[in-house]
Amino acid sequence: MDTRLIQLLVCPICKGPLHRPAQADHLICPADRLAYPIRDGIPVMLESEALPLDDQDQPVTPSTAESTTSTTAD
Ligand SMILES: [Zn+2]
Repeated sequence: MDTRLIQLLVCPICKGPLHRPAQADHLICPADRLAYPIRDGIPVMLESEALPLDDQDQPVTPSTAESTTSTTAD
């Protein structure tokens, strides 16, 4: 991914700069300790999609066992 594009991205919450760990598929906001996923090369800059970071700065993915299946939410 083009690093120049990343430099244009800021956290939607705190408007702070983001950085991408090597070989990671997410962008990190150090201030909020959140990880924004990169899907198909496109950063998903949504607070609702952000994952909290653990002590090793790794995104904490929600448990798939408890994934809620919303079929007819609309
Ligand atoms: Zn932030």
